[in-house]
Amino acid sequence: MILAAEALTKAYGTNPVLNGVDVGLREGEVVCVIGPSGSGKTTLLRCLALLEEPQGGRIVMRDQIVGAPQPSAKIRQSAWGVRADIGMVFQQFNLWPHMSVLANIIEAPMRARGVPRDKAVAQAEALLAKVGLADKRDVYPTRLSGGQQQRVAIARALAMRPAVLLFDEPTSALDPELRREVLVVMQALAEEGMTMMVVTHEMGFARRVADRIIFMDRGRIVEEAPPARFFATPSSERAQRFLAQLED
Ligand code: ADP
Ligand code: MG
Repeated sequence: MILAAEALTKAYGTNPVLNGVDVGLREGEVVCVIGPSGSGKTTLLRCLALLEEPQGGRIVMRDQIVGAPQPSAKIRQSAWGVRADIGMVFQQFNLWPHMSVLANIIEAPMRARGVPRDKAVAQAEALLAKVGLADKRDVYPTRLSGGQQQRVAIARALAMRPAVLLFDEPTSALDPELRREVLVVMQALAEEGMTMMVVTHEMGFARRVADRIIFMDRGRIVEEAPPARFFATPSSERAQRFLAQLED
C-alpha cells in the first residue's frame, strides 16, 4: 500500500464521523468512494491528506506512520516529510484568485520543493498543455470557466509530483456540460498509472475508471467491490437503496 487508513475514527464534538475505517491504495490503483451526503467521505480524504488528526487508528504511508491521535514527534516529522507527496483536488477548486494560472501552479513546487523558477515554469507549461489549457498561462482564475479552473487545480496538484492524488467531488460544483472535460483529464491520469482516490457521484466515471469501489454510510465502509460487481449486484441493502435512488 502507498497510503492507508487503519481503524480510523474521528468525531466532531459528540458527532461520530468515522467509525473504524480501513482502506488502502495500492500503487497505480484508482479507488472511487461513493456514499450519501454526511457519510464521512470528505473527512476520510482529509485524514488521508493529513489535513485532519484522527481520534483513533492511524494513517500509514509506505509503511511509515504519518497520522495518529496526539502524534509523537517522530510521527509529526514523518508527516512533514510526506505531506507534499499527497495531492488533493477540492470541489471548490481553491485557486488563488490574485495570482495568474501560471503563478498558481509554480508556487508550491518553488516554495515546498525548492524547484528553480525556470524549471517550475517549464513544468507548469507542460502540465497546462496536458490539461488542455496551454493558452491560459497568464490569465487570472476568475476569467476561467469552472471546468477550466478545476483543470488548473489538477495541474497545480500534479506540479508537486505527488505519489497519490485525492479528489473530493471534483465535478460537483460544475454545470453538467463542463464536467466531461474534467473527467477526461482524470481518466487520462488514471490510464497513465496515477494512484488516485476519487470521492464522486459520477457513476459512469466510477464504473469505467475505478479498480475498486468503496461505499460508505455513517462513517463506515459498508461495501467494497470491483465496479462491475458493485453496480450489477451490490450486496448491502444500503448500497442497493443508494443506487436505486440515483436512477429515479
Ligand atoms: P461527506 O463528505 O460524506 O458528505 P463529511 O465528511 O463532510 O461527509 O461529513 C460527515 C459528518 O461530519 C457530517 O455530519 C458533517 O456535518 C460533519 N462535519 C464535517 N466536517 C465538520 C467540521 N469541520 N466540524 C463539525 N462537523 C463536521
Ligand atoms: Mg463531502
